Amino acid sequence: MSQESSMALGVSQCLLGHEVRYDGGHKHSSYITGVLGPLFRFVPVCPEVEAGFGIPREPIRLEGEPERPRVISQKTRRELTLPLQEAAGRLVGALADERLCGFILKRDSPSCGLERVRVYKENGMPVQQGVGIFAHALGAAFPLLPIEEEGRLNDAALRENFIERVFVYQRWRELLENPSAQALVAFHTRHKFLIMAHSPTHMRQLGGVTGGIKKGGELPLDAYGALLMEGLKRLATPKKNVDALMHMMGFLKAHLSADEKAEMLELLDAYRAERIPLIVPITLLNHYVRKFAPPYLSGQWYLHPHPLELKLRNHA
Ligand code: SF4
Repeated sequence: MSQESSMALGVSQCLLGHEVRYDGGHKHSSYITGVLGPLFRFVPVCPEVEAGFGIPREPIRLEGEPERPRVISQKTRRELTLPLQEAAGRLVGALADERLCGFILKRDSPSCGLERVRVYKENGMPVQQGVGIFAHALGAAFPLLPIEEEGRLNDAALRENFIERVFVYQRWRELLENPSAQALVAFHTRHKFLIMAHSPTHMRQLGGVTGGIKKGGELPLDAYGALLMEGLKRLATPKKNVDALMHMMGFLKAHLSADEKAEMLELLDAYRAERIPLIVPITLLNHYVRKFAPPYLSGQWYLHPHPLELKLRNHA
């Protein structure tokens, strides 16, 4: 089985076109089912259906303090906090067996919204400072899991960042199944430039973590995993990508002619000025890596972080 087809992505169920919303409708995302569908196994979740609220049902909203909101039905004013929290707890417990590599949540929902969910104050006015009840439970149970809202996936940079984290997290999970000092060092080596493109600071700190591994000592898996996923949350920018690519070019300098180097530098300038997409210099670099097979570069995930058909590096 390929890595992709074995990858499980949790999804708010209404985004898959299932008619589970309060009004009996759905919020189908064609990007999720059409583009991500062939690459992932979806694990659909609807916390409000799990809570037994039914379809259709009275809409609910969050009220009170954004840090600890109450769930109230909008017309009949019933307090539904506990049943929704219990449903979220059951779902999160069941998800532990699903080996998820990421989760896509429906935005603005009092159950699924990840951020800026409306919480109504006593005066009846909303503040956009809440987190949905299920989203909160999910993040608490799986702090390293890449989680994103469907609306933010419309932004090319956020989309690329999320999908990249999903693939790294899947590899990290696989390492945790059979961890060793050698495997951790190899993991870090192969992700070095990918991490650099997000956060050179984290790349150095992670190098310090792996450099501190003592023979026979305890592996720093928790520290490495937390730093890794924290660093990858930082967006890769043209400047950071160019820095990573320049470092990689350094491993090819003995192989490239002056003309080839000049061509690569021209492409990097054009990419930095956002006239061409990242895929252009990456494709040329991949060509040289395939041709000359420098050992340190050949295994770099930065060169192939996710399937090409996702076209995540094709925007300028
Ligand atoms: S609870 Fe979540 S999955 Fe269910 S309908 Fe609302 S947003 Fe969609």
